Amino acid sequence: MCFYEHLRFTCGDWKWGNFREHCNREYRIGETCGMKLVYTTAEVRNKCKLCDKVDTKLRKREVELARINRWQQEGRYPASVEKSQESIKILENEIRSLYAEIAHRRQAIGNQNGSSRSYA
Ligand SMILES: [Zn+2]
Repeated sequence: MCFYEHLRFTCGDWKWGNFREHCNREYRIGETCGMKLVYTTAEVRNKCKLCDKVDTKLRKREVELARINRWQQEGRYPASVEKSQESIKILENEIRSLYAEIAHRRQAIGNQNGSSRSYA
């Protein structure tokens, strides 16, 4: 087991940071053994990249929805409504696959009890 920095994001997700120290066993071999242990935990003051992407897409989706609402209230149906609806559909698909990726990653991390091999 070798020691790494541990970066925790505000969304609760985390990732491994830089390598810090070999464990006793591997020190002799001069390689990292692939088993990661926490050296220090650093709080990162933003969300992880995936959650960040979700937020951006959710915001874009809301902008599109607001535009459609506004047109509806004005009783208009410009050609851009369809374009907006299409963008919303694409955004929702992207959001769904990002959520799946986040869930998958959290599950993978949760299964290793903090001290075994990491794919993060
Ligand atoms: Zn996250």
